[in-house]
Amino acid sequence: MQSEIPYHLENYIGGNFIGPLSGNFIDNVNPATGKVYGQIPDSDRKDIEVAVIAANRAFENWRSMGAEQRFIILNRIASLIDEHANLFAHAETNDNGKPLWLSKKVDIYRAAANFRFFATACMQFASESHAMPNGINYTLRQPIGIVGCISPWNLPLYLFTWKIAPALAAGNCVIAKPSEVTPITAFLLGKICKEAGLPDGVLNIVHGTGSVCGEAIVKHPSIKAISFTGSTRAGERIASIAAPLFKKLSLELGGKNPNLIFADCDWEKMIKTTIQSSFSNQGQICLCGSRIIIEESIYEKFKIEFIDRVSRLRIGDPLEPETKQGAIVSKAHYNKIINCIETAKQEGGRVLFGGKAFHPEGRCKEGFFIEPTIIEGIGPESKTNLEEIFGPVVTLQTFKTKEEAINLANASSYGLSATIWTNHISIAHEVANQLECGIVWINCWLKRDLRTAFGGIKNSGVGREGGWEAMRFFTEPKNICIRY
Ligand code: NAD
Repeated sequence: MQSEIPYHLENYIGGNFIGPLSGNFIDNVNPATGKVYGQIPDSDRKDIEVAVIAANRAFENWRSMGAEQRFIILNRIASLIDEHANLFAHAETNDNGKPLWLSKKVDIYRAAANFRFFATACMQFASESHAMPNGINYTLRQPIGIVGCISPWNLPLYLFTWKIAPALAAGNCVIAKPSEVTPITAFLLGKICKEAGLPDGVLNIVHGTGSVCGEAIVKHPSIKAISFTGSTRAGERIASIAAPLFKKLSLELGGKNPNLIFADCDWEKMIKTTIQSSFSNQGQICLCGSRIIIEESIYEKFKIEFIDRVSRLRIGDPLEPETKQGAIVSKAHYNKIINCIETAKQEGGRVLFGGKAFHPEGRCKEGFFIEPTIIEGIGPESKTNLEEIFGPVVTLQTFKTKEEAINLANASSYGLSATIWTNHISIAHEVANQLECGIVWINCWLKRDLRTAFGGIKNSGVGREGGWEAMRFFTEPKNICIRY
C-alpha cells in the first residue's frame, strides 16, 4: 500500500479513487496544531448515486460468494490493517488529537479485531428451524442488499469497521461515510480493501458532511438499512427521515453514564480505572463515566485522591509517548466544552480541578486542549448533569443508600452504560439489575467481548451491535414453511 496520504482525499467508489463530482472540498484540521493539513471531498447526492450504482452492480456476486471466500477477504483486510498499524495510528492521532499510544493500542488494534471477528462470524452464522407435528419451518437469513454505515469522530476507524465488517460478512454491499472531522483512516481503509481483493463496489467510502452527504445516504431509496453511531440530535433527524421509508435502523447515540462507587470497593483498582473512565480520549468515548456518584462516607477521601492523581495527567502533544491527555477533536467541540464548564459554574458548580483551556509550548501551541475538569456541588436536575458534554469534564455527587444511588444513576434521559464499584456481590447484581442502561460494568470499565450485545436504551439509541446482534441486523429473515 502506498503510504502517502494525499492533500486532497478521494472517495472510494466502485473500486476507484475519485474526487467529488462537484469538485468541492472541505478543510481537514489537525486539532493538536490547529492547522489545516488536508482537504476532503464535500460529496453530495450525486456521488451517493454513483456509489449506489456501483454497489448494485457488485451485489449479486458478493451475496452468492461462499462464506469461506468472504472470510478469506475480510481476514486479509484485518491482517493488512495490522501490517500498516503505524501508518493508521499516526493518521488517527493527527486527525483526532488522541495520544498516539492510544490510537495504536485501542483504535487500530480493535479495527483489525473487528474484521477478524466478523470474518469468522460469517463462517459460523446459522439460522433456525421450527418443527411442527405435520411440517417444518426453516428461516433463511439473507443479506439486505445495500446498507448505509455512518460513524462519528471519537473512535474513527474502530467504530467505522464495527459496522462495515458485519455488514460485509452478512453479504451486503455498503455505502459508508466516516465523520468529516476524522476522514483519513477511512480513506486508508479503502486502499487496504483494494489490496485485499475485496471486489469493486462491495464497499464504497464517501466523504462529506452529515447534513448533505449523510442525509443523501439516509434518503436514498435503494439503501435499505442504516447503521448510525453519533449524537442523539442527528439520530433523531435520521429516524425522522428513515421511518416513513421503512428502513431498518440501528442507532447508537449519546450517553451520560453514571459511575457508582460504594465504600467497600477495591480502592486502588477503582481509583485507577475511574481516572481512565473519566478522561480516556479526553472524555470523548461514549462509554466514559461523566457522572461520578460516590458513597458519602468515602467522599472526602475520594475527592482528595482523585484530584491529586488527575492533576498528574500529562496534557500535550499527542505524538509524545508520556502524553495522557491529547487535543479536543475540533475548535467547535472545544468551544462547546468550554461553554458547558461556564454553564456548570453558573449552576453553582465548584470547579475542583481544571476548568480551563491548556496551551502547550511548541508545535501544539495553537491546538485545542482543555484541562481535565472535576466539578462538585450540582444536583441531578442541573443542565450539567442532564446534557451530554462529551469532553474531559466529570461531576461528583454523593449518596447515602443503595436506593439513592440507583435513583441518581437513573436520573437521565440517556441509558447507554454504567459502572459499579463494590465488593458486595448481591449489591452489585441488584444495582446492575435496576440500572436503566444497555451495558453495565462491575469492578471494571471498557472490558469488551465482541460477542456481547452493545448499545443503549432511552435517548442512547435503538437496537444493538456486536456478535449475532449485528449479523441479525444486517440480514432479513425469511421463513419457509413446508407441510409434510
Ligand atoms: P454527529 O451526530 O455530529 O455525527 C456522527 C456522524 O453522522 C458523522 O459522520 C456526521 O457527518 C453524520 N451526520 C450528522 N448529521 C447527519 C444527518 N442529519 N444525516 C446523516 N448523517 C449525519 O456525532 P459526532 O459529533 O461525530 O460524535 C459524537 C457523538 O457520538 C456523541 O454524542 C457520542 O455520545 C456519540 N457516540 C455514541 C456511541 C455509541 O455507541 N452509542 C459511540 C461513539 C459516539
